[in-house]
Amino acid sequence: MPKTIDDIPPCAGCGKCCHLLVELDDRVDDVPEELVVEHSGVRCMDQHGDGACVALDPGTRMCTIYERRPQVCRDFNRGEALCRRILSGNRTPLTDFELGIAQPALP
Ligand code: SF4
Ligand code: SF4
Repeated sequence: MPKTIDDIPPCAGCGKCCHLLVELDDRVDDVPEELVVEHSGVRCMDQHGDGACVALDPGTRMCTIYERRPQVCRDFNRGEALCRRILSGNRTPLTDFELGIAQPALP
């Protein structure tokens, strides 16, 4: 687990938090429709098989829709608890759900 902010990499080129299921809020989000998928009636960012958001550039590992990224992505802060857990590999879907940031990736 990273202990200080200096132990955390720059977000640019990391992208590890872009492997969570991102629910969209149509009241505030305006992402390209071709990147959206619906799970049980809930609109979400579509994901690749490894869980990576389809908006994540696999080469640069940066968001390709940065200016239109969902609000939950805007609210996610480098160095916060979930970021640290993701970087340490100590993340559980339940924890994400409890935080209300994301829900477990669907099979
Ligand atoms: S918030 Fe954390 S996990 Fe996400 S890209 Fe930045 S450093 Fe990586
Ligand atoms: S929309 Fe962008 S910031 Fe949000 S999860 Fe996808 S790639 Fe990451």
